Amino acid sequence: MTLNVLKNRQLMTKEINDLIVSHEKVAHVQLENRLDHALLVLIKSGYTAVPVLDRDYRVKGQISKTEILDSILGLEQLEMERLHDITVETAMNKNIPRLRTDATFQKALTTSINHPFICIVDDDDAFVGILTRRSILALVHRYLQ
Ligand code: AMP
Repeated sequence: MTLNVLKNRQLMTKEINDLIVSHEKVAHVQLENRLDHALLVLIKSGYTAVPVLDRDYRVKGQISKTEILDSILGLEQLEMERLHDITVETAMNKNIPRLRTDATFQKALTTSINHPFICIVDDDDAFVGILTRRSILALVHRYLQ
C-alpha cells in the first residue's frame, strides 16, 4: 500500500474533535427570539447564518439573513415592522445536519459539501460547537501538500 493511500485513510478516519469551534465562541440565537434580534446578531457577527438553540442548549435549526428577509417579504416590499412580531422558530430552517463529536472526518467532509457549517452535538443532543467548511478544506489542503 502506498504512503498516499495510508495518509488518505488516516485523514478520513480521523475524528473531528480538533476542528470544532467551541460553543462559547459561536454566535447563536434562541427559538423565542424575534427576527429583529436575530438580524442584529447576524449583522454584528458578520455571519450569513447562525445556529438556533432552545433553552436547554439543544440545536433546533439555523437562521440566515435570507430566511429573515423571506419572512418579511410582502407583495411589493419588505415589511420591516414585522421583524419584531415574528419569532426565530417560525422563520428558521429546521432541516439541518448534526454530527456527534466522534464522527469521522469523512462524514464531516461529505456533509460539508452542502453546508457552510455543521452543528456538533453530544450524546444528550446538547450543542458542543460547529465545524466550518473552511476548517475542513484547510485540513484537506494541508494533507495534499
Ligand atoms: P467560515 O468558513 O469561517 O466562513 O464560516 C462559515 C459559516 O459558519 C459562517 O458563514 C457562519 O454561518 C458560520 N460560523 C462560522 N464561525 C461562526 C461563529 N463563531 N459563530 C457563529 N457562526 C459561525
